[in-house]
Amino acid sequence: MSATALEDLNLAHIAKQQFDAAVPFTSDLEGWRGVAEWIFKPEKITKVNLPVVMDDGYVHTFLGYRVLHDTLRGPGKGGFRFHPMVDEDEVTALATWMTWKCAITDIPFGGAKGGVACDPHALSAGEKERITRRYIAALGDAIGPHSDVPAPDLYTSEQTMAWAYDTYSMMHAGANNLGVVTGKPLHVGGSEGRATATAQGVLFVIERMVEMGAIPALSTLEGTEVAIQGFGNAGRNAAKLFRAAGAEIVAVSDTKGGVYDPAGLDLTRVEQHKDETGSVVDVSGTKELDPLEVLEVPCDILIPAAMESQITTANANRVQAKVIVEAANGPISPQADAILGDNGIPVVPDVLSASGGVVVSYFEWVQNLANEHWPALQVHERLREKMYHATDAVVTKRAALIDNLEHYQEQWSKVQPDSPGPERPTLRTAAHVVALEKCRQTASHRGIWP
Ligand code: NAD
Repeated sequence: MSATALEDLNLAHIAKQQFDAAVPFTSDLEGWRGVAEWIFKPEKITKVNLPVVMDDGYVHTFLGYRVLHDTLRGPGKGGFRFHPMVDEDEVTALATWMTWKCAITDIPFGGAKGGVACDPHALSAGEKERITRRYIAALGDAIGPHSDVPAPDLYTSEQTMAWAYDTYSMMHAGANNLGVVTGKPLHVGGSEGRATATAQGVLFVIERMVEMGAIPALSTLEGTEVAIQGFGNAGRNAAKLFRAAGAEIVAVSDTKGGVYDPAGLDLTRVEQHKDETGSVVDVSGTKELDPLEVLEVPCDILIPAAMESQITTANANRVQAKVIVEAANGPISPQADAILGDNGIPVVPDVLSASGGVVVSYFEWVQNLANEHWPALQVHERLREKMYHATDAVVTKRAALIDNLEHYQEQWSKVQPDSPGPERPTLRTAAHVVALEKCRQTASHRGIWP
């Protein structure tokens, strides 16, 4: 059996491993352990069967989920996706990571996530609309502007959010319901900058880390070579923004494959080709790649912006990037994380670098509650401030944890003599520590009722 076959890629297990790596670094271990277990567990899991009349008249029953992970710091917040692989464990892990993202960026939300198990490529626009409306209707008051606020994710878009808002609003007439979902079109209460927010957040994080000297192999973004897996909301916008920041985009990919040009791709041509043919594959003058090969090209910055579990034990040793910045959620398995660490390739974790979307979703929600519309520059600058601040917190935390590693190991061995002590923390572990400390502080002030 190969190493890959033995690798556990269950996302809920992965989220737990990442959390467990952080727990020994949180202070007051005696009082903390029980609270940590509570904070990690999802608050509520909603599962709905959705009968939908397909274009051919067949009634297909789709399975949908919404997981509310945590409301300690505010209402639930997180996207919903359309994908065949959607299941309870996946949605729960994604909801958990949303809690950490909101805490790290210091926005007053907890975590949530949703999804419908379906193949978006096989659905017409009408079928997608009917699935969306039935999903939102079935969730009923499990979502709401002050309880749980969905947003777009994989294969859902601002159009999906417009249908979601319209459905909820028809069911709650007579109120301002704009804050029930974010990522809406501009003329349906959307925010400036939301469409590009995830990618912009990725750029702000890396820009700040370079400025801080936190990535030894990179002293500037100018002229850096960037490879990106995924050419949707996160990946395509990242390509454009990194190019505008002076980087060369050497490779991009989508489900059908990838294209590579070590001299730098002509992005305008790639975008035009994607719009005309539905894929980036076959742009003339470029080398064709298999979908996963994009992760292995020589480059300075690698941005996985497609799906989870893309870098595993099967390919981690072949990654040639100087740094990986996660735009997708969960693209790297824990074992691959360890291999990359051994190979000296730092990973900027999703819970930090992929949080620009939720930050601008928060801005959209604030605008919706106040019936306001902020100018693009205001959104941009506020996002920069949030992302820089979050980056500073994670980088500084990691340095402090490393400085005090012996202390944490000693403390842990007193409380848990039989379990392995904390290891030298990665940026991912430091980000989790930042999040857990914030959730724990809120928990200790609020107390546990009754
Ligand atoms: P999207 O639907 O807009 O685009 C997905 C892209 O990934 C498409 O180009 C698709 O062809 C490509 N893709 C899918 N599977 C692939 C594979 N196996 N190999 C190569 N390419 C593949 O989705 P998105 O919103 O850009 O989301 C991408 C990732 O970013 C997801 O992990 C999502 O959870 C994460 N994310 C999105 C947001 C957001 O605001 N949209 C925010 C944070 C994180």
